This record gives sequence, structure tokens and C-alpha cells, in this order.
Amino acid sequence: MSRPLAISLRCHEAGEYDALMDWLTERADMAETDPAGLAPEMEALRQAGLLAACLPDAEGGQGLGLGAETAITAFELLRRMGRANLSVARLFEGHMNAVKLLHLYDGPGARVAPAVRNGALLGVWGADGARPLRGFATGGGLRLEGEKIFASGLGLVRFAIVTLRDGIADDGPDRLALVDVSDPARQDPSAWKASGMRATVSGRFDFSGLEIDAGHIIGQPGDYVREPHFEGGIWRYCAAHLGGAEALVALWRDALATRGRLDDPMQLGRYARAVSLCRAMASLLRETARTVEAATDEREAIDAAVAAALLARQFVEEGCVEILQLAEKSLGTAAYMTGTPIERVRRDLSIFLRQAAPDAKLLKAGRLLAGASDAAPW
Ligand SMILES: Cc1cc2nc3c(=O)[nH]c(=O)nc-3n(C[C@H](O)[C@H](O)[C@H](O)COP(=O)(O)OP(=O)(O)OC[C@H]3O[C@@H](n4cnc5c(N)ncnc54)[C@H](O)[C@@H]3O)c2cc1C
Repeated sequence: MSRPLAISLRCHEAGEYDALMDWLTERADMAETDPAGLAPEMEALRQAGLLAACLPDAEGGQGLGLGAETAITAFELLRRMGRANLSVARLFEGHMNAVKLLHLYDGPGARVAPAVRNGALLGVWGADGARPLRGFATGGGLRLEGEKIFASGLGLVRFAIVTLRDGIADDGPDRLALVDVSDPARQDPSAWKASGMRATVSGRFDFSGLEIDAGHIIGQPGDYVREPHFEGGIWRYCAAHLGGAEALVALWRDALATRGRLDDPMQLGRYARAVSLCRAMASLLRETARTVEAATDEREAIDAAVAAALLARQFVEEGCVEILQLAEKSLGTAAYMTGTPIERVRRDLSIFLRQAAPDAKLLKAGRLLAGASDAAPW
């Protein structure tokens, strides 16, 4: 049983949700170069009640993305946001993931809830670069050394959940900590040189010398990779990828129609193939979101949920890559013209698909399926 869309609780006027998504779509090209970046978008999400909606009910939220009850609502929202602007979807997915980690594992969740209700954006920064982030034990807390790379939302994310290696031992499981990352002197947005997803400002943050007390530590070592939430949670960013692919297909169709080329049999064949891929991805992701969020604590259920998410990720990556190729073939050079939405969506989608360790993920799916007691995995 899924809940009605959270946003409707704050948006009293009919059509306000669509208006928000339309506004995000219209601003998406401009947001790449606007000095304010995605600040207006995050403010709009706050006003719509979406940042707070991710909090548990007990903390004034609506549990959006926290469990089976809201899985489909969260899926549809991330998909729709991805269709409007992939960079916005990236930041919102990080926020949802961060709130979920705080909810799942003991920690300072309730303490940041008031800030979230007031519009604080959260993020999850796990990617380490040349100087991995480490925590050195001090009297009652930890002194941080090192940096995070691919830190999405620099300048917008107020609190980040970071993975922390032990200061001395290199082989133990990472810990999680919630850190205030609002200090601009520690942010290096220039480190984000990718051609796509520019608006996410996924640069570098230097934590060196920051001290945190024990109250900032979340859960137990190893909680970050606890399943089915770690690999299983992949369905959330895949929902955004799907939205991006749908946006591209819609833009491509309009461009062909404008040029009077939509009736051509070759063009129709490519278009139909792209739509069928979108539909298949949507069905698979809906089912995956349900499976992951409803998984019980039993080993078999967890493994099945993780395998489902990893397989869905692979399918979505391949489907989106095929759609990118079909759009490029259908539009020719028009797909590459800078300053057009098609070119931006192509750029954004193609890099957003490049998530962590894709080969290892497929391998893990294969191993889980091969080792499952059920010899017929369909
Ligand atoms: C727009 C965007 C925003 C992001 N935001 C965040 C964020 O907010 N927080 C965060 O934590 N992360 C973030 N990330 C980073 C993300 O989680 C991954 O760390 C990152 O995308 C991995 O990029 P990569 O392709 O360089 O990885 P790589 O790991 O270098 O993978 C590239 C290829 O090499 C293969 N490979 C990997 N390891 C090996 C190996 N040892 N030997 C041989 N082959 C290997 C992979 O399978 C893949 O085929 C973001 C990424 C993007 C694109």
C-alpha cells in the first residue's frame, strides 16, 4: 500500500506539484551557469515541504523514502525530478539517503531534524581521493584528517554524512559521522571539472583539523554497507537516471516533429525502441524499490533484494546508454549543439550513469544469484 504523494500535504493548490516540476525543467539550462547554482531549486523544494518530508513522522516528516510504505512515492518523485533536472535529483537523492541513514542507525538524527525542517540540505559523501578521510581518537571525540571528492552540493549541503576510516588501522570497517560542511574555506568547487552534472558542484571538501565529538558518530562501524540498504538503495539513483532518459526521449521526439521527420520508418523504429526501454526500466525499478524496501531481516530476503537492485542498476545503465545512442543517431549533430536542453541532458545522463564500481556490482549480482538456494532465479 503506497502513501499519497507527500508534496500534496503542503501544496494546497491543485497542480502545484506539476508547476514545481515545470519550473525546475525551465530553469535547468540556466542553473548550470547561474552564480546562485541550485540554491533557488533547493529553496523551492524546501517551500514545497519535500526536504522535511524525508524525515520520519515522529520528527515532523512523512517518512518519504524510509520504507516500504513510501517506496513507490519516492520512486515516482525521484523519477519525475530526474526528468526535470538530473542535478536537482542528484542532490535530493543524497538528502533522502542521508535522512535514511540517520533514521536506520542510532545517532544525531533527531538533533538535525529541526534544521532539516527549516530547510537544511543533507548529503552523503563517501568517495575518497588521494587523502582518504580518517578519524583520530582524541579525549572525547575525533580529529579529522583528509578529504572527500565527488562531494555533491558543495555550498548547498549543510550537514554531510561521511565515511571515516580509522586513524591508525587501515583494514577495519568505515564509521559514519555527521559533519557540518558549511565552511566555504574548506570547499573546493573547482575540483569538479566534469562536462556533465555541472550544477551539482560535486567538488572536494577538506576536513583536516576539524574536531567532532562522540555525538556526531552514527551507528556502528560497518553500518554504511549494511544491506539491503547499501547496494539495495541503488534503485533511488536509478529512478533519477530513468527520469533523465525519459526527458531525453521527449526532447528528441519534439525535435523530430519540429523538423517533420517523425514519420520516417527508421526514426519511428528508434523512437519506439527507446519508449519500450523506458517502460521496461520503470516496471523493473518499481518492483525493485518494493522488493528492497519490504525485505525482511532474513539472509535470503536480503540477498534477493540486493541482487534485484544490482541487476536493475545494470539494466538501467545499459538501457540509458542505448537511448543516448539512439537519440544521437536520430538527431545527428543537433544532439551536440551547446546551449540546448538535449545536449545538457545527454551530458548529464551520460556521466550520472558512471557510478561507483559497476564491474564489481555486476560480479556481486552474479555471485548472489549463483549461490542462492532457489536454482530458478526468475
Ligand atoms: C554527478 C556525480 C555526483 C556524485 N556525487 C557523489 C556524492 O555526493 N557522494 C559520493 O560519495 N559520491 C558521489 N559520486 C561519486 C560516485 O559515488 C562514484 O564514486 C564515482 O562516480 C565513481 O566514478 P568513476 O567512474 O571515476 O569510478 P571508477 O571506480 O574509477 O570506475 C571506472 C571503471 O573502472 C572500473 N574499476 C573500478 N575499480 C577498479 C579496479 N580496482 N581495477 C580495475 N577496474 C576498476 C569500474 O568498474 C569502471 O568500469 C558522484 C558521482 C557523480 C558522477
